[in-house]
Amino acid sequence: MTDFCALLGVKGGPAIRPGSNMPTSILVSLAGRTVLVDAGLGVTRSLCDQGIDLREVTTIFVTHLHSDHYLELGPLLHTAWTAGLVAPVRIFGPAGLERYWQGFLASMKDDIDLRIADEGRVDLAGLVTIHHLDEGPVLHEDGFAVTALRNDHPPLVDTFALRFEAGGKRLVLSGDTAFMEEMATFAKGADLLVHEAMLTVGVEAVISQLGHQDDRLRQHILRSHTPADMVGRVARLAGVRHLALNHFVPDGFPGFGDADWTQEVRRAWDGGLTLGKDGLRIEF
Ligand SMILES: [Zn+2]
Ligand SMILES: [Zn+2]
Repeated sequence: MTDFCALLGVKGGPAIRPGSNMPTSILVSLAGRTVLVDAGLGVTRSLCDQGIDLREVTTIFVTHLHSDHYLELGPLLHTAWTAGLVAPVRIFGPAGLERYWQGFLASMKDDIDLRIADEGRVDLAGLVTIHHLDEGPVLHEDGFAVTALRNDHPPLVDTFALRFEAGGKRLVLSGDTAFMEEMATFAKGADLLVHEAMLTVGVEAVISQLGHQDDRLRQHILRSHTPADMVGRVARLAGVRHLALNHFVPDGFPGFGDADWTQEVRRAWDGGLTLGKDGLRIEF
């Protein structure tokens, strides 16, 4: 079976516009296992577009509590439930995710209670278990290992990169992060590194698009994401086999295209490179 990583949504940040990609979700298929990492807006449709039966998605990771990474988690689970989900689902996420989930259940209580009574559904709440995601080994079962690294994405503290290892393959997902040397160690020898990327000159385009001009957003973006040339540097230091970019900031703005991203990354990286697109499957 071919191992792959499908980039379901590659846009950095929660706002979407005509022509933009969708916020972040990644489907991982490794050693016969299917895992979802993040559940940004559009994740449910994107999984179907990948030919994935929603009932098969029973292990989910949420890297951090920015809405572009979990806004659609509740709707995804609810939709899987209406599609016949009866198996337990485990979710690994930061402290606080439980509050989101309980809030989602409360917001849909009328519908959920109705479907249990009227359609004989199992109780959705009872299917889902949320595990607290923390740095270090997260999962190790049947040769399938997941490890988390606390990354650098202020002001959040519970924010993580993830490494998946199975069948001699290694996949690393950076999550949202500023440049960090430790990422290169964490991603050492990966077959595929999917790393977030920022085009520093493009950040002004993001800011100017907004009705309100507040310097806090500019500062947040600049200190919590990785300039594209530094992404190349991480890949080189780690000696990965292939680098893919996702979580583009900016995304969908005129004036910034593939050539700009490639030029920046190529300052430091001459290995395999893929610029992510919504729905793109990368085999590794
Ligand atoms: Zn994000
Ligand atoms: Zn974030």
